Amino acid sequence: MSSSTIQPAKVTRVEPGSIAAELGFEVGDAIVSINGERPRDLIDFNFLCADEELVIEVVDGAGRSHRLELEKDFDEPLGLEFETALFDGLIQCNNRCPFCFIDQQPPGKRRSLYFKDDDYRLSFLYGSYLTLTNLTEREWERIERLRLSPLYVSVHATEAAVRSRLLKNDRAGQILDQLAWFRDRRLQIHAQVVLCPGINDGVHLERTIRDLASFYNPEGAKRQAVDFDARAAGLQARSWAIADSANVAGHGIAIADPDSESDPIHNSINATGNVTDPSLAPAPETQDQDRGLAETVEGDFEPPFDGQLEGEFDGEFEDDLDEEFDEEFEGEFDESDPAPPTVTSVAIVPVGLTRFRPSEDELIPVTPAKAREVIDQVEALQAEFRQTLGSPFVWLADEWFLIGDRPLPPLEAYGDFPQIDNGVGSIRLFVDRFEAALDACSVTRVTPDRHLTWVVGNTVENAFAPLAHRLSQIPGLTVTLAPLRSRYWGQEMTVTGLLTGSDLIEQLGDRDLGDGLLLPALMLKQGELCFLDDTTVAQVAARLNTRIWIASDANDAIAHCTAPDGLNHPDA
Ligand code: SF4
Repeated sequence: MSSSTIQPAKVTRVEPGSIAAELGFEVGDAIVSINGERPRDLIDFNFLCADEELVIEVVDGAGRSHRLELEKDFDEPLGLEFETALFDGLIQCNNRCPFCFIDQQPPGKRRSLYFKDDDYRLSFLYGSYLTLTNLTEREWERIERLRLSPLYVSVHATEAAVRSRLLKNDRAGQILDQLAWFRDRRLQIHAQVVLCPGINDGVHLERTIRDLASFYNPEGAKRQAVDFDARAAGLQARSWAIADSANVAGHGIAIADPDSESDPIHNSINATGNVTDPSLAPAPETQDQDRGLAETVEGDFEPPFDGQLEGEFDGEFEDDLDEEFDEEFEGEFDESDPAPPTVTSVAIVPVGLTRFRPSEDELIPVTPAKAREVIDQVEALQAEFRQTLGSPFVWLADEWFLIGDRPLPPLEAYGDFPQIDNGVGSIRLFVDRFEAALDACSVTRVTPDRHLTWVVGNTVENAFAPLAHRLSQIPGLTVTLAPLRSRYWGQEMTVTGLLTGSDLIEQLGDRDLGDGLLLPALMLKQGELCFLDDTTVAQVAARLNTRIWIASDANDAIAHCTAPDGLNHPDA
């Protein structure tokens, strides 16, 4: 990546009370360099900002250059958020998967919604899945040098021909060699298989899971569990801390929108990097009167503001940064330790299809019978792996049980929920938390009487019906579950997160909704009162002539239902 493609990192939020706030940073400022080096992404930025002494070159919103100097504690974040995590642009996808949800959107949306990324930085930072088919030698080297681990890899199939058929890319057949590359460097991945009936199911699925299991070292897993490598953790925290402080998004989530808008395909996330720590409050010593940009903080450095950036940047910056990383990570791993599992977990996810998909895609929807077949197949392998690996190793997305009308596994079946953001165990966790919250609820009667309609995708009808029933046992309260399918997407079985405003308007118009709708927040684009079809919550409320309460979690839903002095103020 040439340094010429790196753009200054544009600030979208300054954490109140943070170092950046004390320095006088404002939204619209852009960081050009830190200690003379240009960060190409949030990974570089966090690594560079971990230092105790920083010289930051900034261009403000009016285009004026500033040079800021500060001292701080090691690893103290500045408290800035940026409009993107990638200052040199997204690495684009070079595959043509027939099941790609980007291609299954309705036409005529914003151009940015059709953008396909396949970027290892987003995988490391946010847990989005990537395919490894588009990495240059230099990017492979960077993954190794920075020890960007774990990454989240869409494997789909380990047989070269099957994977190439699924990704429509001849380079896709190298996956086993690539996993060996990770193994040789003691780097780890989480894997997912999007199961497409008739293509990578049956014997192909068995082969894939067994191939992946061969990259799971049970001795290394035990060692990892009982003796977490503190040296590595301490070191990696310098660059990996970013994953904790960032807007961590779910697995399987590709940030497909360079404009930082919601990605309906992957359930709405933003591509903003987020480095925050509200506990930071060093006092600035001097300030730029025009802008309030402090030039030194606890500083006794050079003259504060030099008015202009000094000179142009050249390609040496990246090399300098690489050398710094090399020094930082050199010799940090003991080769005599058992190698950790290369593939730490596998999620099997059913293919999702919409009516907007290309007609020639050769894909078949997952039927209840297919779901039960896959459950039986994978559960047999889980039982085997518990014996041989000491871990189930492979997990089924909740949708399999919902489509197959089988009971969800108990909470303990999910271990530490390694793939929860991929829809593995999230329904079980929600149901259990909801029941626990109801157990703890001390409300014995609601007044005045109220009746709410709880809207969900029809896949969770059976799992959530007992919750609505329990709520309705509280005197004065009636909660009616409204399980809907999405006609917008053309699906018979729909998860709650894909329901749109038009689905609600179309299917709830002639129903008695009682006092109003209880809507799970995951139906909406992140941070917006807007559905995936761009219908707003207010529009739905107006069209249905009702009120709407948004529930972000189980406690929120119960609080809306049982608010002591009548219903809370509605969201619409
Ligand atoms: S599913 Fe992912 S890898 Fe496949 S074409 Fe779409 S964006 Fe690319």
